[in-house]
Amino acid sequence: MTVVVLGAGPTGLSSAFKLASLKKDVYLIEKESFTGGICASFEHSGCILDLGPHRFTPHTKEIYEFVKSLAGVNLLLIKQKLKVRLKGKFLPYPISPKDIILSLSPLVSAGYILSFLGSAIAPGKKEIKTYRDWVIKRFGKNIYDDIFKPIAMKTWGMDPGDIDSLLAEQRISMPGVKDIILGMIKGKNKSDFQEGTYYPAGCFYYPETGIGNITSSIERSIRQDGGKTHTLTNATGINLHPEKRAVESINIEKSGSRETLKTDFLISTIPLPVLIKLINPAPPDEVIKASKELKYRSLILLYIIARKSFVSNCIGHYFPEKEFYLSRISEQKNFSEKTVPSEKSVICIELSCQKDDERWNQSDESLFKKAIKDLEKSGLLLESEVESFFSRRIAHTYPLYPVGFQKNLMTVLDYLKGIENLITNGRLGLFKYNNLHHSLEMGLMAADHVLSGKPKEENWEKMTKIFDAYKMIE
Ligand SMILES: Cc1cc2nc3c(=O)[nH]c(=O)nc-3n(C[C@H](O)[C@H](O)[C@H](O)COP(=O)(O)OP(=O)(O)OC[C@H]3O[C@@H](n4cnc5c(N)ncnc54)[C@H](O)[C@@H]3O)c2cc1C
Repeated sequence: MTVVVLGAGPTGLSSAFKLASLKKDVYLIEKESFTGGICASFEHSGCILDLGPHRFTPHTKEIYEFVKSLAGVNLLLIKQKLKVRLKGKFLPYPISPKDIILSLSPLVSAGYILSFLGSAIAPGKKEIKTYRDWVIKRFGKNIYDDIFKPIAMKTWGMDPGDIDSLLAEQRISMPGVKDIILGMIKGKNKSDFQEGTYYPAGCFYYPETGIGNITSSIERSIRQDGGKTHTLTNATGINLHPEKRAVESINIEKSGSRETLKTDFLISTIPLPVLIKLINPAPPDEVIKASKELKYRSLILLYIIARKSFVSNCIGHYFPEKEFYLSRISEQKNFSEKTVPSEKSVICIELSCQKDDERWNQSDESLFKKAIKDLEKSGLLLESEVESFFSRRIAHTYPLYPVGFQKNLMTVLDYLKGIENLITNGRLGLFKYNNLHHSLEMGLMAADHVLSGKPKEENWEKMTKIFDAYKMIE
């Protein structure tokens, strides 16, 4: 059996891993020069840096053990220390009522607490349609205005009143007032693990030599088992059988040379609109139109190398307030000291944008000038302490969920359901927010489906129901 997998992020890699380990013919096609997707690490100036901050927070024993068993992966257990800048101060994140009372002015904290409590007792008649509705119902208007609204504007570039409430449901894990009260009634959980997690509360796992250690170890294993990984390779066409509505072959192109791979099955983890565009003969017009409406946010990662051993003692800092250009920064060395030489430290700044917009096209110098102002203002880093800076740009990171997006998504997914030997999967392929541990599970499950030989409707469509219950870590 031959299987082609498009995209070598954690989802595609774990599918290829399982199939190759069972001696199936696997071709993994990746457009970048490296594998690992967003969960890759790279070397720069003697440092190992992640493509954005990544914590490994498995949700099941199986996924924890899968990663633990990978050759060369040494998982450290790290205490999660995050801060949020609010009203001129850094507070521990997630914010607790105690920290609000102790750290903020009586007027501000009274406003937060009253609107927080008010949100729980307010009559729940209003239909929850948007991100704004969802957050206000759970945390109150003051916390929405000061934290959630500005951070959403920075991340998605949209007013939360125009974003579907599903995004808040999938992404916000901070306990609301009802959860806090229920937690107090139920008492403290006796186990170290919270429900639906397989790591000690308040901690996360991290591979000693960078998050990419997980994905590169999976890739090594695929190659050892005879799987073929093609990087810097573009899929240029997906050819369907004229009568059977099944994939027959994939056209690929690498450095100007073209090849057609005959395949029994295609697992795609690339963005949905890209997948739709590749299919020959072309899907119906309404499917093409709907796929063009599915948009992703892009991300610039600006790395600043500092001439000091540590910038802070935290893994990350959030800057929700409008007055800050920054939204989130992370410090690589606080994930693992092994990744950065002792005399320096590296800050990674996440800047969301749309590919080809004004920010995307800005020079690193111009991005740095704005970022360093904020770092100086908040007392974290002075320009005189900076050794150098550079950026990495990722075109597809966050699926965008404007109100009503689900209609377009369903149109595209319903069409793809009809192609029996094609699965679209993962964060980009299912247009679904997820984490590394979810991606690994999604990829392994896709391989199980391929191996089962069962009809998609009877097997895969049912298996994927568990993806709806995935809860993100922020
Ligand atoms: C800033 C940031 C921080 C995050 N932090 C965490 C965290 O702390 N913990 C956590 O568990 N998760 C975190 N995540 C989520 C995690 O990165 C994703 O869940 C995971 O990477 C999704 O894996 P994937 O394989 O589905 O997609 P991706 O990793 O996006 O992989 C898709 C792959 O497809 C390739 N591709 C795209 N188009 C084509 C094409 N046309 N042809 C061939 N290949 C193509 C891409 O180059 C990429 O390699 C974070 C994500 C971001 C953006």
